[in-house]
Amino acid sequence: MRSSPVPEDRLLVLLYHNVGPSPGRRGLAAQWTESGALRAQLRYLREAGYAFVDAQWVLDWLSRAPTHAAPSPPVSRPTLLTFDDGQANLYTHALPVLEEEGVPALVFAVAGRVGDLTDWESMPSWRHNPVLTWEQMLEMQERGITFGSHTLTHPHLPALLEADWRRELAESKLVLEEGLGRPVETVAYPYGEVTPEIGAAALEAGYRLGFSTRRGLNSLDTALAALRRMNVRRHRGLWLFRRKVAKMARL
Ligand SMILES: [Zn+2]
Repeated sequence: MRSSPVPEDRLLVLLYHNVGPSPGRRGLAAQWTESGALRAQLRYLREAGYAFVDAQWVLDWLSRAPTHAAPSPPVSRPTLLTFDDGQANLYTHALPVLEEEGVPALVFAVAGRVGDLTDWESMPSWRHNPVLTWEQMLEMQERGITFGSHTLTHPHLPALLEADWRRELAESKLVLEEGLGRPVETVAYPYGEVTPEIGAAALEAGYRLGFSTRRGLNSLDTALAALRRMNVRRHRGLWLFRRKVAKMARL
């Protein structure tokens, strides 16, 4: 099957969660990508002409939007890798693959759970997975990873009172900036849940980009507070991944 290419002026953002051997019996298997599969997906994309870009490239590209009538990115089929939740397996299993393949990535960390255990999954038996420590995050940062916020505690933001979702957005930014010593300019909403009010508040809090889980590619017309992503769930074969990328190009 020939896959249709992503148009040149569209940005593909991939969403991963965990990387490593899937803990099948504990559920959430769909949120795990084995490191060999990740490597195969990256190699496929590169061979198919997708260019991996980092968060800064995306910021630069989107911030030029108002001044360019018909802009196009200077690279073909720009693709950004994002990882939600910032669990420790990203250090042990994703970082080596990303480094070997020379692919940058944006990791969204739960600022109030750094160095702790996960406590937000719906099933109790899925919880208590180690989260990245500050030391690991600082090392990852040195090795080319950019960090964004995934809020303080990974709540369903629209279910909170406004004061609380504002705090989740604003304080997580401060905590991460303090811990990492760099500006934190991006946020990914837990469960992809964002309302127009929450998106506007994210920009008011100083984020320059917000990431949802809405499917699709991004253009210069996409709302900065709600970029779209392709959720890479556990794919047993590369062909499923290829098919999903091809479908994305047609959205
Ligand atoms: Zn999450």
